[in-house]
Amino acid sequence: MNLISAVDAAISAEPFICRHLIAGEWRDSASGETYDRMSPAHGCLVSRAALGAEADAEAAIVAAREAFDSGVWSRISGKERATVLLRVADLIEGNVERMALLETLESGKPISQSRAEVSGAADLWRYAASLARTMHGDSHNTLGPDILGVVVKDPIGVVSMITPWNFPFWILSQKLPFALAAGCTTVIKPSELTPSTTVMLGELLFEAGMPPGVVNIVLGYGASVGSVMTTHEAVDMVTFTGSTAVGKAISAAASSTLKKVALELGGKNPQVVFPDADIESAADAITFGVYFNTGQCCNSSSRIIVHEDIVDEVVERVVELSKRVAFGDPLDPRTQVGAIISVQHQGKIDDYVRAAVTEGAEIALGGGPMTVPGLEGQFYQPTVVRGVSPEMAIAREEVFGPVLSVLTFRTMDEAVALTNDASYGLSAGVWSENVHTCLEFSTRAQAGTVWTNTWMDGFPELSFGGVKQSGQGREIGRYGLEEFFEIKTLVMRI
Ligand code: NAD
Repeated sequence: MNLISAVDAAISAEPFICRHLIAGEWRDSASGETYDRMSPAHGCLVSRAALGAEADAEAAIVAAREAFDSGVWSRISGKERATVLLRVADLIEGNVERMALLETLESGKPISQSRAEVSGAADLWRYAASLARTMHGDSHNTLGPDILGVVVKDPIGVVSMITPWNFPFWILSQKLPFALAAGCTTVIKPSELTPSTTVMLGELLFEAGMPPGVVNIVLGYGASVGSVMTTHEAVDMVTFTGSTAVGKAISAAASSTLKKVALELGGKNPQVVFPDADIESAADAITFGVYFNTGQCCNSSSRIIVHEDIVDEVVERVVELSKRVAFGDPLDPRTQVGAIISVQHQGKIDDYVRAAVTEGAEIALGGGPMTVPGLEGQFYQPTVVRGVSPEMAIAREEVFGPVLSVLTFRTMDEAVALTNDASYGLSAGVWSENVHTCLEFSTRAQAGTVWTNTWMDGFPELSFGGVKQSGQGREIGRYGLEEFFEIKTLVMRI
């Protein structure tokens, strides 16, 4: 498959062909079936993918197991693994435009955000390569004069990776290079809605010299492909990013064979604004936080909790900035808010907004579906809902659209209680010029990440993950690498 012709084909409305990657070969499904992916913004055909079933998933798992047991990747040096990962990073950087274009066509996200996602992901590969050369265990020579204890880190084995549609390439890159750095082999199932950039990565891996069978890709649905990947005896670990409901089902399925499970799930992330905050900066970050990826983001700041003395000022400023947000054709580089992934999802977003209004909330901006001239897909207006109370569904559940809920507080205790009054705990933010306020809030908030006077800043060196029903385990950074190890103790009488 040639990448340039693949993307040219995609924009000229010829479908990009996605096949399974199994044991180093591009394969059609055993059944021969395919399915089509249409653009949620443009309505055109983007890709045609092999429709995988149990037999395809099984073949990919067997290939990953054989590759792992052969030692072709798991027993080579960290330096050799790093060399391949660095080549992949270079190849990703050389293909940003092509990958970003397919990602935008399949997901409806603004092209500028697809470009940033793909080029940012290259840095994750580069960082993981550095970890491949620096991982280490411990040794204990204080156990007695003639005994030495050594704790080593072995790759955990075959890892199933199941990813969602909203950041297909970034999320895969939060998992795959770290698992590869540790020496694991993998079977990947991208979302059925966005298979193309994962398939393109498969091409780049070949070019970088990845041995056959180390990375396998199976396309298709969760109920068929996904369920084999989470229950098969030859799989040692499942790492999943997606909804909390599916995460719970995967955790239950994987328990029958006691696989290790890492989960990155949903969020209901608040930004809390204290009266001494820099309101201009807070409003900027709130606007960015709610509309980024058209609000279809696990880290969306879909609720803000604002001190009641400044709520009018904050809402006024956020509404003003929201009106200036450029929405429309995701292929236009100026667009900041793109399409909604499906008509059904557009309806779900609207249901949350209607229900909140029925329960007494007030629309400060937007509040309904919209059309974009010349485009057939589905869109939703940038929306601000104020007067939201904590028991409303819009305040508690993941809306996953460009919709902001505004709640208010009077004291630090109230702000913390409202923040923590959620089944989720992915991220939170605090805005204040007082370091004590920021520190107190950061330590009391139940969240995997707490930002102070910023939102969504992140670095490969840090860690990412959620508490409560936002997930378990960590990705990226050293802690992300550690997830892919099995700890082994060696005791030597000398
Ligand atoms: P989803 O849960 O519907 O699907 C995610 C993946 O799981 C897809 O590949 C799907 O085919 C697969 N799947 C579905 N049922 C399965 C099953 N029974 N067994 C195995 N696999 C199965 O999620 P989505 O709609 O693609 O993504 C949106 C969700 O993902 C939101 O809730 C969002 O918050 C969450 N998300 C979380 C993070 C994070 O890092 N915490 C990042 C991005 C998205």
